[in-house]
Amino acid sequence: MEDGERQHVVLFPFMAQGHITPFVALAELLRRRCPTLIVTLVSTPLNIQKIKSSSCPPSLSSIRLRSIPFSPAAHGLPPEAETTGAIPFHQIVTLLHASRSLQPAFEQLIEDITQEDGRPPLCIIADNFFAWSVHVARRFGAFHSIFFTSGAYGTTVDSSLWTHLPHRKTNSDEFPLPEFPDTIIHRSQLPKHLLMADGTDPWSDFLQGQISLSSETDAVIINTVEEVEKTGLRMLRKVLPCPVWPVGPVLSSPSSASAGNDHIMKWLDSQPPASVLYISFGSQNTIAAPQMKELAMGLEASRTRFLWVIRPPVGFDVKGEFKAEWLPEKFEERMRDEGTGVLVHGWAPQLEILSHASTGGFLSHCGWNSVLESLSRGVPIVAWPLSGDQLYNAKIMEEELGVCVEVARGNMESSKADRVVVEKVVKEVMHGGQRGKEIRRRVEEVRGLMKEAWRDGPGSSVKGLSEFFRAAASMRGAGLKM
Ligand code: UDP
Repeated sequence: MEDGERQHVVLFPFMAQGHITPFVALAELLRRRCPTLIVTLVSTPLNIQKIKSSSCPPSLSSIRLRSIPFSPAAHGLPPEAETTGAIPFHQIVTLLHASRSLQPAFEQLIEDITQEDGRPPLCIIADNFFAWSVHVARRFGAFHSIFFTSGAYGTTVDSSLWTHLPHRKTNSDEFPLPEFPDTIIHRSQLPKHLLMADGTDPWSDFLQGQISLSSETDAVIINTVEEVEKTGLRMLRKVLPCPVWPVGPVLSSPSSASAGNDHIMKWLDSQPPASVLYISFGSQNTIAAPQMKELAMGLEASRTRFLWVIRPPVGFDVKGEFKAEWLPEKFEERMRDEGTGVLVHGWAPQLEILSHASTGGFLSHCGWNSVLESLSRGVPIVAWPLSGDQLYNAKIMEEELGVCVEVARGNMESSKADRVVVEKVVKEVMHGGQRGKEIRRRVEEVRGLMKEAWRDGPGSSVKGLSEFFRAAASMRGAGLKM
């Protein structure tokens, strides 16, 4: 990027790990590709503190971190509720509504930056849950963009369902999306809060408002790859009036595994290549206790090595103590003694695990960051989507990309999880079944496409980012080029 005077970009992620991680990675990427750019990342105090203590200091030192005040207690939330990971699912909608109260402080911060720099930032890149920030950008004459941290297909399907609530207009189990008659959704792919939504509930109120505002943004950048998500991008471009530039995969740089995780990496070091199934349901989700037992029994029967990041089941404090009774009798001891499996209670260094040569599969809830991390490392996915876009990520990955097999869906006790299916699918993917081989071949292809996207020359994401900045700069007449 060439630059007459230093330009300033402000990044504003929603307060959830799955949003903050790719925004931090985007900030690092922007600084790497354009060292003259000033990049400020804005969040609430606890999140800024967490970013400072968790990320690699060298790359972060070039990013300005600014916190804006937020009082969860004023909205009836516990004081630590500055991130979705700190609260149970039913409180997330309250956090979403509460996040609207950030507007005056965010506006003040842009005012301060404008004073300090002698001009407004070139561009505000905000989360889709903060689509309201378009009004702040307009006030200061800054270019406004939304950075979607989920995939194009998942984003479009989820938005369409929340906008039109098509399941309310039919009794049928399967129905098409109004804008996309070829896209058929099954009722079991609707999370409970969407199934119950009637357009006047708090979820609909928040999401429909932000979806509608997002059509006012100047541009969209999205954490996906043009060549990987052709269908999703075609759909997203049909519903959005502004340009859409894929700039993915935007991934955080792997930190060297922290001291507390040595035993995990050592155990992986001692396993045969591509033999371990890594299991995780993301930064905030968990499954029901009966499902945990089915998963454990299916795993044991499949005789597959595994590394399972496990939390207390639905209905219990996810940060609380784990009880052996949630698993088959003596499961953890038996797996440990046999050397077959390791349970990680709490948090694991996911990107490092997926990058390890012993990891051969990922049983994932299909959060979009997990999907990108897995595919970019060439690791096939056994999908167990739980909610929101995860269900549509799994659908497109199985039906179109051919990089995963769905093993179960949902985390309610009523959702089916069957040990026999777990055993069959895990064996198929991990022990070289015909379908497993085909999936591995497709994953390698997708990994190649992801790599190509960031090749100078330019790959599609290099081009996307450069066109995005050209659009932002031309609005300002800034002569900025990537
Ligand atoms: N993650 C991790 N360790 C864990 C659980 C999650 O490092 O034990 C990271 C994971 O690598 C990913 C993010 O947290 O970057 C989860 O984001 P995703 O979109 O996959 O799911 P979400 O948590 O938003 O549901």
